[in-house]
Amino acid sequence: MAVSATTPDPAPAGPPLGHGRGTPWPGALPPRRPRPDWWLTPLTELPGVGATTAERAAVLGISNIGTLLEHLPARYEAFDQDVRPVSSLSAGEEATVRVVLDAIAVRPTRRRGLKIVSARVHDGSGRMAVTWFNQAHLARVLHPGDELLLRGRVGGEGRRELSVRSHEVVGAAGSVGLHTQGLVPVYPATERMPVRRIRELVDLARPLARAAPERLPAWVRWRLGLPGAADALVAVHFPRSRPESRLGRRRMVVEELMVLQLGLEAVRRHQTATRAAPALVATGAHSEPLIAGLPFTLTPPQRHAAREIGRDLSRTRPMRRLLQGEVGSGKTLVALLAVCQAAEAGAQSAVLVPTETLAEQHLRTLDGLLGPVGLHPVLLTGRVTGAERERRLMALRTGTATVAVGTQALLSEGVDFHRLGLVVVDEQHRFGVEQRQALSERAGGGGAAHLLYMTATPIPRTLALTAYGDLTVSTIRTRPPGRAPVETRWVRGEEREDAYEQVRAALRAGRQAYVICPLVEEGAAAEARAATTEARRLAEGPFAAFRVGLVHGAQPSEEKRRAMLDFAEGRTELLVATTVVEVGIDVANATVILIEDADRFGLAQLHQLRGRVGRGEDPGLCLLFGEPVTEDGARRLEALTQTTDGFRLAELDLEIRGEGSVLGLRQAGPTDLRFARLARDRRELAEARWAARRALRIDPRLEGPEHRLLRDAVLDRFDSFPRLLDA
Ligand code: ADP
Ligand code: MG
Repeated sequence: MAVSATTPDPAPAGPPLGHGRGTPWPGALPPRRPRPDWWLTPLTELPGVGATTAERAAVLGISNIGTLLEHLPARYEAFDQDVRPVSSLSAGEEATVRVVLDAIAVRPTRRRGLKIVSARVHDGSGRMAVTWFNQAHLARVLHPGDELLLRGRVGGEGRRELSVRSHEVVGAAGSVGLHTQGLVPVYPATERMPVRRIRELVDLARPLARAAPERLPAWVRWRLGLPGAADALVAVHFPRSRPESRLGRRRMVVEELMVLQLGLEAVRRHQTATRAAPALVATGAHSEPLIAGLPFTLTPPQRHAAREIGRDLSRTRPMRRLLQGEVGSGKTLVALLAVCQAAEAGAQSAVLVPTETLAEQHLRTLDGLLGPVGLHPVLLTGRVTGAERERRLMALRTGTATVAVGTQALLSEGVDFHRLGLVVVDEQHRFGVEQRQALSERAGGGGAAHLLYMTATPIPRTLALTAYGDLTVSTIRTRPPGRAPVETRWVRGEEREDAYEQVRAALRAGRQAYVICPLVEEGAAAEARAATTEARRLAEGPFAAFRVGLVHGAQPSEEKRRAMLDFAEGRTELLVATTVVEVGIDVANATVILIEDADRFGLAQLHQLRGRVGRGEDPGLCLLFGEPVTEDGARRLEALTQTTDGFRLAELDLEIRGEGSVLGLRQAGPTDLRFARLARDRRELAEARWAARRALRIDPRLEGPEHRLLRDAVLDRFDSFPRLLDA
């Protein structure tokens, strides 16, 4: 029935599957070469597949033959290829048998809810008993006389009995051995679209694998030793060996990453080639006094990053650079040197931060550093209104104000700049490539502005090359010297009182501490309530002798600001907070941070929170409270106690959670990956980059016939950039 995809077909394919239901593919021969019309055939064209199945498959993103065949197994179960005679089985082993069903019935058990189906079966060599757990419906669908393949563990003292793990009816739809023999694929599934059903669908669609579009040009396949699309799909779904399945998957991964790299490279070229930025040439008029006025010297990585940025700014090709470095590594200073350079060249800068509260905080820092060299940043947030707002807008429009600080709204809401040369985006790790593209366009104005993104979430190299592939990266890997180390302890239940005593000791010594409240699923309001309750509990109980402050996301911004300020200026000693303190707050006297339910936070976020302490000369202490319910939760806490290297933690995070969550991206974006796993597929990433660059070098618009499908795939994925490749 199932035509092997490796069998050459004698005649060209017929029309798409316009036959009625019933026997598969009557008359119509399966395609022998890529056929988009076949590839996009709706699932319901498969024999025996109706609207209900199609609906259930859609939940998994499966809508047609193509998406079905691209639904790859998450893993395989390794079953024997051979079936064994019943008489040869011995207790304790696992085996596959091919038998005839004699009788079947549901047997009640004493345990409520547990149903056992028991059956008797035989083959030429003997008889035995068979049981299934919790599959009562089988007693209805299986009938005496049915020929079955059964896979399971042999038990039974004295009499032989097989506890079934997997079964199939021989002669039913589908290939023999689909569920019980050899490497059996395990697909991502749902309750209503179970793995078995997916196997059957994929098996039905197997003859159509030949219709898969061949996106990888022959030169790429040849150089990397990769199979064609159809062979790769067959190898992944019906592997005869592990190496075969790996090779098939490898090909899918390279193709996916190559499309992504082509898109990112195109974005980069588009952004930098279409418009010229002002060449901002440094004179040192502002930056030299700024550096001279610092109570410290720049670290080598700071100097290196500043040089890279300075060079970019002096060119007319718009800078698109990501400056990454951990909290406290001194990124702000590097960014300010860029602001100085822009000012020296007569251009304005805009500094964007995620929230208005942070904007206010940032203004103080910026003013402290830039004020002495004659640059006075103006704050522009929703809270600045009326005549004062008009005054500031005017200053930006006429160019009397050189530096603006605010949220993203700064670039969107009718704010005109006299000559905007540089946009600095702080803490931008929640931006996706599409948002960056939008920002890049807005930063255009008359000419394109240079863009500097800063993130304190260290990004593993593999991620930087994919999610941030449109940017050039500068990294500050080491923190300024003289920073005290932070000790991290994972505190369990009964040690809570000891931990509180440690915090009290720090407060008695004149230091300050943070208590971070758990993330509450029900949202900000519930989180605020929980934080309020916790603050009261601490203020009345363990910390009754101290002044306790509270800050959370649901406070009116004035109240929030006051709470932060009270803590920063030492009027409160213990600050109970939700994660609003995650970014930005800088209180050198705070040396202890205690995090409740730490296992609920992501690794990157915990590391960020920990970065709030150890900012001064005194050693920091990070206390993680948590009773993880998942193994991943425990691994995260364990990892934190072992290293303070953010890059190492980011790699670990990638391994534990996968790329989407590391980036904190909620919506699907063009940099989401279906096949590739960056923690694993490093080699494929490097190969895909090589292939993407070479393709654009030899065929810049991807117009050649061997690149056309790649081009379509890129445009499909990066749909907001329809003319990217025409730049
Ligand atoms: P980031 O923005 O990377 O989190 P900041 O730029 O805010 O870090 O720097 C954190 C603190 O370290 C600030 O108080 C800053 O003045 C200080 N700092 C920056 N560079 C140095 C340096 N080279 N030596 C000592 N302290 C520094
Ligand atoms: Mg910072």
